[in-house]
Amino acid sequence: MANCCSTSSKPVQEYPNKHRCPVNEKSYRSVSPSTILHHINEPWNWQNKEQGYYFCEDPDCEVVYFGEDDSVINKSSLRTEVGIKESNSQALICYCFGVSKEKSTSQAIKDFVVQNTKEKTCACSARNPSGRCCLKDFN
Ligand SMILES: [Zn+2]
Repeated sequence: MANCCSTSSKPVQEYPNKHRCPVNEKSYRSVSPSTILHHINEPWNWQNKEQGYYFCEDPDCEVVYFGEDDSVINKSSLRTEVGIKESNSQALICYCFGVSKEKSTSQAIKDFVVQNTKEKTCACSARNPSGRCCLKDFN
């Protein structure tokens, strides 16, 4: 019986690894549709097409997810606040352990996250809107 809370996400290999955000025209890495389902508003209304999806990490771009067909999902269509796109110091950087931008400057907290990442007790693919480990977003 598979663990329904497993953090392993299927690699998105049948599609290009990178695609350009149609708004800022910079290239970003792919994200699993299951990650999008965990953050989009009313996921039951989202049409997951057979294509690659990507995460725009530019703080100044309204787009969070976009598809190979250049369809976009903006910040306003998510139920999760994307910390790296907010100037608010209370916005989350680490969604697995609830670390805000402000708290991410603490070495002790960073060490805690590093340790738990090593032990794989994190759940980035579901909880972080980027679907990836948050450590690169720590100062
Ligand atoms: Zn963008």
